[in-house]
Amino acid sequence: MPVESPYPMIAIEEALELIRRHTRPLPAVTVSLPEALDHILAEDITAAEPMPPFAAASVDGYAVIAAEGPGARRLVGDQAAGYVDDITIEPGTAARVTTGAPVPPGTTAVVMVELTEAGNGHVEILTADIPEGANIRPVGQDIEAGQLVLPKGKLLGPAELGLLGTVGRATVPVIRRPVVAVMSTGDEIVEPNEPPAPGQIRDANRFALMSAVLQAGCAPLDLGIVRDKAGQLEETIERGLAEADVLLTSGGVSMGQLDLVKPYLASRGTVHFGRVNTKPGKPVTFAVVDGKPCFAMPGFPVSALVSFEVFVRPALLRMAGHTHIYRQRELAVLAQDLEHSAARTEFQRVVLRREKDGLLLASTTGFQGSGRLLSMSGANGLVILPRGQDTYRAGEKVEALLLGPVETESSSESTPIQGV
Ligand code: AMP
Ligand code: MG
Repeated sequence: MPVESPYPMIAIEEALELIRRHTRPLPAVTVSLPEALDHILAEDITAAEPMPPFAAASVDGYAVIAAEGPGARRLVGDQAAGYVDDITIEPGTAARVTTGAPVPPGTTAVVMVELTEAGNGHVEILTADIPEGANIRPVGQDIEAGQLVLPKGKLLGPAELGLLGTVGRATVPVIRRPVVAVMSTGDEIVEPNEPPAPGQIRDANRFALMSAVLQAGCAPLDLGIVRDKAGQLEETIERGLAEADVLLTSGGVSMGQLDLVKPYLASRGTVHFGRVNTKPGKPVTFAVVDGKPCFAMPGFPVSALVSFEVFVRPALLRMAGHTHIYRQRELAVLAQDLEHSAARTEFQRVVLRREKDGLLLASTTGFQGSGRLLSMSGANGLVILPRGQDTYRAGEKVEALLLGPVETESSSESTPIQGV
C-alpha cells in the first residue's frame, strides 16, 4: 500500500489565510533613536513646538529693513546661530547673521553676503531686489506646534528618525521585530568548514534562511545543525521556542522515516498545514506551538528559500507591524517557453527587466531543479505559473512577484542622473 501523508494538500491561498489568521503584531518596545530604524512606529508622534522655533536666517548675510533698499547701513552687531544677542535693527542699521541664527527684532529681510560689501563699521547693500521676508524662515514654516508629525504604523526610515530628533524624542515605542530561531536538520548536513564524510553535504539552508530573515528586518538566532535523531531534535526545537518568537527549520518534513519535525510539532501544538499544492515546497509546514508560529521548510535549498519567500516573509513582516507584507506583483512577458507541471502552482526563478516599451520581461535563470540554488542566485523575481496549464510560451504574460529592483536601461548606466 502506498504511504500517504496524513496532511491534506491545500491550496496556496488557503495556506496564506491560515498563516494570516494565526500571526499578529508583537507588542511594542521602547528603543533609542538609531535602533528604531526600519521599525514600525507604535504611537502617534506630535510636535510640541514649531519648527523653526524662532524666525531664522536661511543664508549667511545681513539682517536689514527691506524697505530701505540698497545703500550703506551702520553695523550694530553679529548674530551667530545658537545664540540670542541683544541686537535690534533700526532704520539705517544692519547686523551680520549666520545661517540658522535668530533674526534680530526689527529685521524684515536678510541679504546674502554675496550681495554686500562690508568694511569700516558699515555694510553696503548692493542689490535693489530685497523682498520683504527674504531669506527668513518664519516660525513654524516646516512644522507647526501641535502638528501630527508621524502617525502610528509608520515605517521609520532616515527622514523619520531625523523628525523624531527634531521633535525631541530620544526614545520611541516601536513594534518589536521577531527573533527567528533557524536550524538545519539532517544526518547528511555538515558545517561549511567541515570535510563532508561519504554521503554528506555542506549546509546551505541555514545561511540562506538566516540571511532572508535579516533582509526581512528580523533577528536570526542560529540553532545549528540537528541530526535526524529523536532527542536532539526535540531539545533544539524547545530551545528555539524558549528563546525566539518564531521557529524556522529546514529538512525533515518529507515522507522519510526520519522526518521527525512534523510529528514533534504536532505533539507539542497544532499543525495548521503540512502540505501545500505548490512547487517548489510541497511539504512546507506551519504550526503554532506555545503561541509561537513554527515554519518547517523542505530541505532542498530552492524549496526552502522559495517557501520562505512565499509563506514566512509575509508572516514575519506582519509580526513586525507592517501592513504592506506581500511582494509587489506585476504581469511579465516570458522571454522563453517554460515547462511546468500542470498539477501544481509553480514559482520559477527569473530575471525581470523593464523594456523600453514599459513591458516587464522575465528571463529564466535556467534549470529549475529544487536543489539548484544557482537558479535563485541573481533572480529578482518569481513568475507564478498557475496549475492547470502545462507549458507557458515565450510572449505569454504571467504574474511575477518582484523580489528586488527591476533592471532597466537607466539602472545599468554609469551616471545615475543626467543633466537636463
Ligand atoms: P529533506 O527535506 O530532509 O528530505 O531533504 C531534501 C533534500 O534537501 C535532500 O537532498 C537533503 O540532502 C537536502 N538538504 C536538506 N537540508 C539541507 C541543507 N541544510 N542544506 C543543503 N541541502 C539540504
Ligand atoms: Mg532530511
